[in-house]
Amino acid sequence: MSNITAKINTPYYMCEEALLRKNLELLDFVQKESGAKIILALKGFAMWGTFPLVRQYLVGCTSSGLHEALLAREEFAQDNRELEVHTYSPAYKDEDIDEIARISNHIVFNSPNQLFNYAQRVKTINQNVSLSLRINPEQSSSPKDIYNPCGIYSRLGTTLANFDEGVLEHIEGLNFHALCEQDADALEEVLAAFEEKFGKYIKDMKYINFGGGHHITREGYDVERLIKIIKDFRAKYGVDVYLEPGEAVGWQTGVLVSRVLDIVHNGMDIAILDTSAEAHMPDTLAMPYRAMVRGSGEAGEKRYTYRFGGNTCLAGDIMGDYSFDEPLRVGDLVIFEDQIHYTFVKNTTFNGIKLPSLVIKRENGEMEVLREFGYLDYKNRLS
Ligand SMILES: *Cc1c(COP(=O)(O)O)cnc(C)c1O
Repeated sequence: MSNITAKINTPYYMCEEALLRKNLELLDFVQKESGAKIILALKGFAMWGTFPLVRQYLVGCTSSGLHEALLAREEFAQDNRELEVHTYSPAYKDEDIDEIARISNHIVFNSPNQLFNYAQRVKTINQNVSLSLRINPEQSSSPKDIYNPCGIYSRLGTTLANFDEGVLEHIEGLNFHALCEQDADALEEVLAAFEEKFGKYIKDMKYINFGGGHHITREGYDVERLIKIIKDFRAKYGVDVYLEPGEAVGWQTGVLVSRVLDIVHNGMDIAILDTSAEAHMPDTLAMPYRAMVRGSGEAGEKRYTYRFGGNTCLAGDIMGDYSFDEPLRVGDLVIFEDQIHYTFVKNTTFNGIKLPSLVIKRENGEMEVLREFGYLDYKNRLS
């Protein structure tokens, strides 16, 4: 716990820039070796206080609509470099599309219908904008249905059966996004399906966007295989390749620090923390997965076992069971590992509980509290 200071009020997320740079360096290695361009998917990681670091490596962002695109424009841009803002939405709204056209370099449509509706209009507003269609390769080995964009009845992307060759005169690229926390072999399977279904269109494109879900920065990921896949693909078709990972950027770059508020007993020892699985670590319930806690073991593995619960009134607001060598005490810090991706971007003020602060540990060791939240963040979302 050496780098966790007791001075900052819990709960807080702490992103370590040294760890973030390590990820970015690996991603940059992939860019340089493969010739692909990598952009950040804001959906998974949007701590914009780190963007001055992130933009040293990545050429831009992919956004899921107007608000993320605005954030990319405002916070990722840098005077002396061309920033790429790619925007993809499952469906665009009439009142958003003009502004999206003004601030995006690429606009990706989900269906031929939306593309036909808006192609002319966005080109009139911004003649430099490049249009693309997201297709559904109908091949994914995504581990969970909730995270499988190619699952049965998926609304995400156009299947071959729904592809309309009329789109070809408007688009310069095709996108797919079919992976979730997966290795390069899964990409190979998706690419094979993509080429089988849409191969005849690829040569007419300027770029193909391979989406996100590439778990590049996870230990053991087959980086060399990814590089080879991209190089072979670029050589075969003469197109640019984009990757747009979110999770791989924020992967293992920091923690959620919380505190034990009380310990109660009901068949077992239960520690109530000043954070929440429901509000602050939602994927632990949705995925679901068990977040690692620093210094802990599985239930029963070490001498003292506790169930960790959140400080909301939701019965199921439970992080899991953890064991420790020493008994926990009220006031102890509890540190959840790897809580920087898909956490604060999904936070809610459910039950009025305080949002965790956002903290960066700079590379010189300084801790900077970027933002603290309070009552008004709760009130202003209600009326
Ligand atoms: C979520 C998403 C990403 C990023 O996925 P990660 O799993 O975080 O890498 C990229 N592209 C699209 C279209 C997405 O929906």
